[in-house]
Amino acid sequence: MAGNRKVLPMEEDNYVRFIRTAINMRNDETADFGEKDLLMVLLPACCGLRIGEVAHLSAKWITHTNNGPAIRIPKKWPCTLGRSGSCARCKAESSFYDDPSLWGPKTKGRWPEKGAYPIPLTNTLTDAVTGDEVETNLANRLISYFKVHDQLGVAGYETIRFRVRRVAQQTKDLHLDHGRGLVNRLVAKNDRQTVPDLHPHDLRGSWACHCLRRQISDYTLRDWGGWQDLDMINYYSSFVGDVDGSGRDKL
Ligand SMILES: [Zn+2]
Repeated sequence: MAGNRKVLPMEEDNYVRFIRTAINMRNDETADFGEKDLLMVLLPACCGLRIGEVAHLSAKWITHTNNGPAIRIPKKWPCTLGRSGSCARCKAESSFYDDPSLWGPKTKGRWPEKGAYPIPLTNTLTDAVTGDEVETNLANRLISYFKVHDQLGVAGYETIRFRVRRVAQQTKDLHLDHGRGLVNRLVAKNDRQTVPDLHPHDLRGSWACHCLRRQISDYTLRDWGGWQDLDMINYYSSFVGDVDGSGRDKL
């Protein structure tokens, strides 16, 4: 989980409206919300990418599997997001092999011995929200983007947080799933209104819950999400059971 914050997934209808809002903002020429902005939001929301994975996403991470295009997070990656070489975070953390020029994913679950598990880009919620129009689904958006750019190239994680918050502010009646007595975090929208303080990691949690509602198996989701065990799957399962009342089997 992100520090000591509780990850709060959105309920399904909020999740759908959030993604639709992001796509609408992209389609609105007056909204000043470009393709890169949209991808910063959709990658955690529709593929469960962590914020560092979004920031460092490279064209070379797109792979093609029997089930269509997918993202394969590498074990280590040369970071070029800084003005001279790697970004400040990679320099500070020297996250892998004590080499500040390298970035690496947070958990080893991303790259077990047999190789990283590809995260599917097809059949994501963007397909459903947009009616699966080829030119608008996430796979084609990314492939088109990487015809022009060799990486997403987000130098500061704060930028991603800001984009997510902007979409949250524009999403009508957004609320987080806090039916279990969890704290409802709010930030000011303007002088009179507040909106949920939605973080990128909450999008990852919303994606996980969405996958569970779609009957994706616990082990498949563990591999897609890069978790090393089922702890977080169990955490998210508890939301799914509470929300849809389907009595989804608990372990
Ligand atoms: Zn970096």
